[in-house]
Formats: sequence, structure tokens, C-alpha cells
Amino acid sequence: MHKICVIPGDGIGKEVVPATVKILEAVGDFEFVYAEAGDEVYKKTGKALPEETVEKCLECEAVLFGAAGETAADVIVKLRHILDTYANVRPVKAYKGVKCLRDDIDYVIVRENTEGLYKGIEAKIDEGITIATRVITEKACERIFRFAFELARDRKKQGKEGKVTCAHKANVLKITDGLFKDVFYKIAKEYPDIKAEDYYIDAMNMYIITKPQTFDVVVTSNLFGDILSDGAAGTVGGLGLAPSANIGDEHGLFEPVHGSAPDIAGKGIANPTATILSAVLMLRYLNEHEMANKIEKALEEVLAEGLTTPDLGGNLKTFEMAEEIIKRLEHD
Ligand code: ATP
Ligand code: MG
Repeated sequence: MHKICVIPGDGIGKEVVPATVKILEAVGDFEFVYAEAGDEVYKKTGKALPEETVEKCLECEAVLFGAAGETAADVIVKLRHILDTYANVRPVKAYKGVKCLRDDIDYVIVRENTEGLYKGIEAKIDEGITIATRVITEKACERIFRFAFELARDRKKQGKEGKVTCAHKANVLKITDGLFKDVFYKIAKEYPDIKAEDYYIDAMNMYIITKPQTFDVVVTSNLFGDILSDGAAGTVGGLGLAPSANIGDEHGLFEPVHGSAPDIAGKGIANPTATILSAVLMLRYLNEHEMANKIEKALEEVLAEGLTTPDLGGNLKTFEMAEEIIKRLEHD
């Protein structure tokens, strides 16, 4: 029995996470350990990420996280750091029944999760003059590229092309992205069975629109990955469908790309798909591939039949959509 730490958090996190937990309960036996984080617990206790929550995250096999509102930076950025989840994995996949740019989009963005411009090294050096420091280290590059090539190898076993595309700006950021690109091709040599290519991040931003079907695994630095993956989510149906995994050597944290969506929170109409797909990523991380496939297949059927929440043009509530998925699991 897997022990999962569940943090619904704020806003629609309180709706999409319970809906996802119901689906997990329908496919297997789990021990769910509930923990608090975000705006609400901050108002109550003065701490957005209580120590007790951190302890629970550390003792469980994986964390399923919903959303944190205004305290997001204090919660999720901190948690990623504490759990040393250095790879942020964001699948970009077109599902039947969802309005997408093309129906053959199926690739994964791997974003470096620990350094780059997210180190938080900013300063005001004079009146009207501010700077930010971009940190790129060989060590962090090596492990993120190995992660990307290993992922491409896994996907190749499932019939994918077996290719890693590195996105950078080495023509302008000659030193930091110079290193990033050099280490990429150094690691690529360890994987002769996997193709390696690179593009400038600006061109890459165009290619995810003009030829998204040609990508398999895309790897990039922290801020570029943040920007690229929201754009990519837009090509396959938007934030309601975009899942993510934060993976390290010891821990895994799984969360929808979207936030607490205060504009629709409390109405029961949030799309649970992004969180359900994050749980699917969690099951694969736990080597529960059969459970993962079962849920993904049932979800695919529900999406194809248009049994969705209003953001995708349907008229179901969050829990009704989850119920439709559970019905199809039981039919198996
Ligand atoms: P936060 O500060 O917590 O990130 P936000 O205001 O940026 O909140 P997001 O959660 O990032 O809101 O969502 C951006 C937009 O996408 C909102 O209009 C929201 O309603 C919509 N949205 C996000 N997630 C979903 C979802 N699961 N289902 C439907 N709509 C969603
Ligand atoms: Mg947001």
C-alpha cells in the first residue's frame, strides 16, 4: 500500500484534489496522509508551509498537491527545494474531444527546477538600477539532461521517436547557456540510441506552434521552461488539462500547472483533468503502470464523449466528471 501525502491547499485545489482522490480510491489501496499549506493555513497560523506538513511530505512516498494562492512562492517553490525535486516534467498531449492545435501532439517538457533565474539572487544596486543573477552549474545540467535522456529512452520503448531537444539562448547568454548547451551534447554522447538536437528558445517557441508533432522530450532551463510550458499547454486545451511532476532522487511531488483559480473557486466547476493526469504521473513514478493506464484510458473516454466541465464546453461539475471516470473504471 502506497503512502501518499495529500495537500489540497487553496481555492479549486479543494475541489480537484478530492475528486482525484476518489478516482485513486477506485483503482487501488492507498494510505492518504492529509496536510495543510497555502493562504488558509497562513491566515490561521501565520505559516503557509507548517513544519508538520514538511514532515509528512518527507515521510510519504509521494505528494499530491492542489494549489496555493498568494502564498504559492512560499509553499511550492520551497517544497520543491526541500524535496530536491530537480526535474519539472510537463507532458503536452492532445486528447480526442479536446480542441487542440493538432491531434498528434505528444511530447514532454522537462524544466530544470533548481537554478537559473529562480535562485532568487536579485538586487537593487542603485536608484533605478536592478539586477538578477542567472545561475547555471555543470552539476545541475548533467542531472537534468540525464533525466531527459532517460525519459526519452523510456518513451522509445513505448514506440516514441527517442529524441531530446534542448532549448537555450547560447547566442546571447554566451557563458551560462554556452555551458548549458555544451553539457547537453556531452551527456548526449552517453545516449547514442537517442537523437539530440537544439534550438534557440525563441525559435522553439515558434516550433511548438508550427511543428509540435516533431517533438518527443524537450529540455530547458528554469524560466524558459516556465514560459514555454504554459504556451504549450495552450496548444492542447489549456490550463484545465496541464499536469506536472516534480521529481528528484528521493521524492516526487505531483501538481496541476494551474493555480487556485479564485475566479471559479467554490463553484464546483473546476476541471479536475490536470490533477487527475498529475495523479497518473504519480502512479507511473510509483511503478503502478497498470493503475495509471486504467485511469488515463477512462479519462480519455470521458473527454472523447464531451463529458467535461464548462472550460472545455461541457456542463458537468467537477465531481460529476470524476464520477463518469469512475463508472468507466468499474466497467473494465
Ligand atoms: P493563482 O494566483 O493561484 O495562480 P490565478 O488567478 O493565476 O490564481 P490560475 O489558477 O492560474 O488563476 O488560473 C488562470 C485562469 O485559468 C483562471 O481564469 C482560471 O479560472 C482558469 N483555470 C485554471 N485552472 C482551471 C481548471 N482546473 N478548470 C477550469 N479553469 C481553470
Ligand atoms: Mg496563476
